[in-house]
Amino acid sequence: MDIALIGVGQAGGRLVDSFLDVDDWLVDDPIVGACAIDTSRAYLEDLSAVPETQRQLIGTDRAKGHGVGADNELAATIAKDERTTILNAIDSLSIGESDAILTVAGLGGGTGSGATPTIAEALRETYDIPVYGLGILPHTAESLIRTLNAARSLRSFRHSTDHVFLFDNDAWIETAPDEEIYQDVNELLATAIGTLFGVLDRVQTDRLGESDRTATEYIETVLSSNELSSIGFAGETIQQSDDHGGLLTRLWPSSGKQDDPTPPERSDHIEEVICEAASPPYTVPVEAPEETDTGLIMVAPESYVSETPLTPQSLSMIDRLDPTHIHLSEPPTSGDADGIAALCILTSDSFDRVTQLTEQAIDLQEDPSQIDYQDIDQAPDIVNAPETDGTESNGQDDLQPLF
Ligand code: GDP
Repeated sequence: MDIALIGVGQAGGRLVDSFLDVDDWLVDDPIVGACAIDTSRAYLEDLSAVPETQRQLIGTDRAKGHGVGADNELAATIAKDERTTILNAIDSLSIGESDAILTVAGLGGGTGSGATPTIAEALRETYDIPVYGLGILPHTAESLIRTLNAARSLRSFRHSTDHVFLFDNDAWIETAPDEEIYQDVNELLATAIGTLFGVLDRVQTDRLGESDRTATEYIETVLSSNELSSIGFAGETIQQSDDHGGLLTRLWPSSGKQDDPTPPERSDHIEEVICEAASPPYTVPVEAPEETDTGLIMVAPESYVSETPLTPQSLSMIDRLDPTHIHLSEPPTSGDADGIAALCILTSDSFDRVTQLTEQAIDLQEDPSQIDYQDIDQAPDIVNAPETDGTESNGQDDLQPLF
């Protein structure tokens, strides 16, 4: 599935940079166009892979090119007011060649948190292709304003997209995050999500047989479900990182450097990689995987698959996974021909982490004095004047929507 990528705010822009920097996709490169949108000139200038012509500064009247701090409400307003500018910038990408649009942002900040749901909504109204979200949840070492912003943003983001993939900084970064750590996790995440889109429309329906629904049905259901997904990923083209072992694993050196593995070895490799992807860590912790709608997609060279007696039963060691939900992707037509990857997609209406984030945000909304945020001028109104900010409860609970 070919995607156009829209990164909003600093994290969004950096993630787009990371997607564009991946040069050894196991699958066909899924990205046909990319841009970064920000209220901060400096953040846009810091990007490296996003072409300068595809960096769009917004909100210069009110943010003066310096960003909006943590004021995600201001960012949402700016994005609404500058809808035409934003859509023009996005229209210059190859949207006509894209099967979907992926909007990407850190949800706990200001620009990405506020502007991304607004932009996603405008994209859905403008284009006839699905609009997905990739949202980053904040680290607990960050200010509590990030928790409140992320919870409100996620609420709006879900409503304005077809499906949201989540990544939890708190689960992947041990200490307070810094630039270097961000770069590492961004690389992992870009590889996993890019591979996911690369294989999605190449999934074969009956290689493993016995599924109660076809792979296509599964994917269509998941992606249009308006739910949330956490991803488990294992692949062999990226070096395993000591800091974050588990998401990406190098299973065996590429052929040419070593004799081709025998079919039984191949079979073991495939089982290992599937098991790795189906096991934690996932991009967001999932306490009860059996309560999620889980699917697993695997991609491997034809020679490996045809010589491997892969059946649902042979994969029964994966207790978290219903083997009938395992789907096989067509072998890659480009990239590393000896590569293998597996993706586990755990889909749910909510994860424990999201429920906790939302509960904490409601608590903060009721008592904003808990938020020790220095730059109060650059915080949303809800923090300064919770009773008078004009938004209304959505009736499901007390979390006030962003717009
Ligand atoms: P914005 O520019 O106002 O949208 O805010 P940022 O994108 O700088 O930050 C929003 C949130 O995203 C932060 O609270 C962090 O949790 C997260 N974040 C910022 N930069 C990165 C990054 O490069 N990678 C990841 N994974 N998370 C980031």
